[in-house]
Order: sequence, then C-alpha cells, then structure tokens
Amino acid sequence: MPLIFPYARPGGENSAMAENLERLKQCIPLLEYLQRHNWKPCRAGSRQELVGLCPLHQETRPSFYVNVGKNLFYCHGCGRGGDLIRFVQLFFDLPFRQTVALLEQELTPAPVSQLLEQTAAFYQFQLHRHPEAIRYLGQRGLHDPALIEEMGIGYAPGGNLRRHLAALGYSLDLLLDSGLISSQGRDAFCHRVIFPCRQRGQIVNLYGRSIGAAFPHRLLPRSKGGLFAWKIVSSFSTVILVEGLFDLAVLWQAGFRNTTCAIGTQLTPAQLSQLAERPRCSVYIAFDQDGNQAGQKGSRQLAHRLQGVGIRAHIVQLPHGQDPNSYFVAGATAADFTECLERAQQL
Ligand SMILES: [Zn+2]
Repeated sequence: MPLIFPYARPGGENSAMAENLERLKQCIPLLEYLQRHNWKPCRAGSRQELVGLCPLHQETRPSFYVNVGKNLFYCHGCGRGGDLIRFVQLFFDLPFRQTVALLEQELTPAPVSQLLEQTAAFYQFQLHRHPEAIRYLGQRGLHDPALIEEMGIGYAPGGNLRRHLAALGYSLDLLLDSGLISSQGRDAFCHRVIFPCRQRGQIVNLYGRSIGAAFPHRLLPRSKGGLFAWKIVSSFSTVILVEGLFDLAVLWQAGFRNTTCAIGTQLTPAQLSQLAERPRCSVYIAFDQDGNQAGQKGSRQLAHRLQGVGIRAHIVQLPHGQDPNSYFVAGATAADFTECLERAQQL
C-alpha cells in the first residue's frame, strides 16, 4: 500500500513561525521523539520506513508507519499522519501553540536548565557582596532594589563559580558543555553584571555585561532564546522593543512594563514569531541612535520585517546619540519618553 502523508498546517502562519517549526523538527527528529516515548518499531517496511503499534489509537496489528527520511508518520488504522508537531498535538491533545511551546522546552535539557538556575542564584548572591557592581548598576541608571531582584540581576566576580558548582555535584563535562567554564577551566563570566534570560519560566541563557575593560557583551554559546520576559510583556497590545537589557531595565523602572528586548537588533525566527503571536500588535522600536545611521537603518529593516508578518511597526526617535538607557541616565523622565513614543513614526 503506498504511503501518503496528508498534512495541513493551521492557517495564518507567517514565514518566521514556519522557520521556527523547521528548526524544531530538525532538532528533534520524529523517530527519536517517538522512541523517547517508548515507541518500538516491530519491523521495517524499507530502510527508510519503520512500522509499529500506533501510539494514537488502540490496536493489536501494527499500522503506524514512520518515514525516517521524510520525518513523517502515517497510521493506516486511524488515518492520521503528519510531522513531529502534528504527532505531539495528537498525542497530548494540545492546541497548536502549546505544542510548539512544549517542544521548545525539550530543547533545553533539564540538567543545563537547573545548572543555569543555580548559577544565576549564585551570581545574585554575589551582587550584594560586591559594591563595585552595585555602583555600576547605579551608573547605568538602575537604582530600584526590587527591580534588580525581580530581574534576577547578579554579578560574576570571576574565579569562584567552578568550585561552587562542583560542590553542588555538577560534573566538569556539564560545566564545559554549558559554556560556563572555558576549555582552560576558567569562569566564562568575570567582572560582569549578569542578567538571566528566561523563556517560559526557564533560564535559557545568561547575559554578562562587563564592568571593566573587557568586551562589553557576552552570552553563553546557546540559542539566545525568545524575547525577554515575554510572559509579562505579551499581555500588552503595544510593545516597546529595545536592543539591550539595560535599556529594558531603565524602561521597566520608569513604568514601561510593556518593554521587551531581543539582545541586539536582529530578531531570530523564534523571537519574530513571538511578536507575531498576537494579531493587531503594535511594536515601538527604540534602538540606539548612533552617529553613523546604522541603528536607524537596522530599525527600518526590522520595521519592514515586522510589517511583513502583520505587525504595526513604529520607529522611536531619541535625541541624537542616545539609547533608552543613556537617555534616562542623562535625566529623561517617563514623560519625556512618552513624548518620544507619541512622536514615533509608523512605517
Ligand atoms: Zn493510529
């Protein structure tokens, strides 16, 4: 019997979401996922095809086919088929978005996620023991202890993380694998203010801002994840998008809780699809206004990309040479920034 793979995607998707789904399917091959959920193929139809009992309905004779090359399944018993996402949707009886969220969580393995939690907690504790770090936060306009706590901001003095994590029982392999410890055995973050980046509650990366002469920005070599604190921000219909976590922190401090950050001016497909999740969303892009116009060019390109997925995009003009962080440090108030938002041009 020829195999057919009827598969229709839910409508209304944009290309960023499609890219994100492709990435998920590549990272988690269907067969691997099935085997992780105890599916055992009992015979092979061909080298590319495996057959086993259907996990989606009760049966005694195997009619569930998996095409390994195409990464697709089809059951001749219940007539259902598709790709990994379709399978997870049917298996757990979940709506489409929740299915994607569930799979994304699987991409951050639990031990690494726990390790990052422990690390962030350690750095948070260190912050209060290092006045130079608190002073640095003050220079960047961050004064509110409750906000510093809420964002989980910490400090990496360097040189003491490895011992701490080893004492908690983490293997050197995992520390190296996570990028927290370099191949030379040193702490990856040294003299850096640390912001944990969370996605759906889990820490997926750490961002470290140098307070000394070292290169300013550092992220662990992992996927940078979604938009910062998207769970909080996604309840607003208007979103302010900034480049850096210090921009975000001062805006939150000034009451603009609808601010999120992509860490940089480029959005990954996952970040773009988060913004596109809700229809009729407006995004205010408040990137650096640098002298050489690169920031403004980046803003315009992003605005066009957003409009391509149905988002109303506005470009916020700050005074020349300012970013939201430096603008507030220079004495701007919430009212000043509101004026900038009101003046923002829609593309
Ligand atoms: Zn079936």
